[in-house]
Amino acid sequence: MAKKKVIDEEAAQPAADRPVALDGLCGHARQVELLGRLLEKGMLSPSLLFSGPASVGKASLAFRLAAALQCASPSPWACGKCPACAKARKGIHPDIRIITLEVNEETGKERKEIVVRQAREEIISHLDLPPYEGRHLVFIIDPASAMNAETQNALLKSLEEPPRYAKFILVASNAANLLPTVRSRCQEVTFGLVPRKALEEIAASAGLRDDDAARAVSSSAGAPGLILSGGWKDAAKRRERLMALLEFGLQAERFPELSPMMEEMAKEPPRAMLAEALRVTSEARRALYAKSGGQDSAVARAARARGEESLGRVAGRLADAPAHLERNVNPRLLLERLFIVP
Ligand SMILES: [Zn+2]
Repeated sequence: MAKKKVIDEEAAQPAADRPVALDGLCGHARQVELLGRLLEKGMLSPSLLFSGPASVGKASLAFRLAAALQCASPSPWACGKCPACAKARKGIHPDIRIITLEVNEETGKERKEIVVRQAREEIISHLDLPPYEGRHLVFIIDPASAMNAETQNALLKSLEEPPRYAKFILVASNAANLLPTVRSRCQEVTFGLVPRKALEEIAASAGLRDDDAARAVSSSAGAPGLILSGGWKDAAKRRERLMALLEFGLQAERFPELSPMMEEMAKEPPRAMLAEALRVTSEARRALYAKSGGQDSAVARAARARGEESLGRVAGRLADAPAHLERNVNPRLLLERLFIVP
């Protein structure tokens, strides 16, 4: 039998992007309410699909739900105090199994797909046996959209008619990659971006104050996972650099300081960079239209420096940028073409 990550004590530390808080703020009151009601009535579908943008808290809520399903005295959510909750929080509950991307032992890199062997070894071979100690056997598949077609097909029967004790929670930022046959077998719970007010509360609960809290909220762009994991710092740096490019890109005398910055930016994942560039540019355009300075004065300042027409042209070039990347245009050059011309 394959060694299971979830019951391997050494690997018990949850990954940084998987906070296993059993309670607290998540910014998805509607989904929490819906799932709570289904838990209470015992009407939770055996196969659930949590879909929506990355880092908004889908996996966190999947863990919370898994813990509630194991808790000795749920209300309907996990009590947080019983031995089952303690194990769930540490990530060592033997009946909460996480199926995720493996690390290729030869290259040390994460594989790009969840392969059919994992479905057989980590799911199907366990389905005949009841849970070790919990009330349910919960399988969290994350990222579910990384399952290739063979893996998805191998799971169809299990998703359709699981044993009464089994529950599946598929977590997908890109649910469109799932086969319609998989999607139709799951009850889908959709998640959206978290509104600013909830993000501010989450930042405060994570101990962030003042300037850090404001930067974390702005740069998280609706994804509290970035605030909780500390990933907001990278996002904030990216955002601040993009704003500098918008604000000073047309001033030739600033090029000597912008150039090394673009060198650094070109080393980052280009798609994340473009997504953020699109967000910053849209915010800047909105700030100009609103003429109120917007919520973020740095954006408004960058917008005024760039001007309406140039902002429109940046937005147009950004729309074409993914196609340039496909053709292997050098990212450093691409940044220059996007921002250093009117
Ligand atoms: Zn409990």
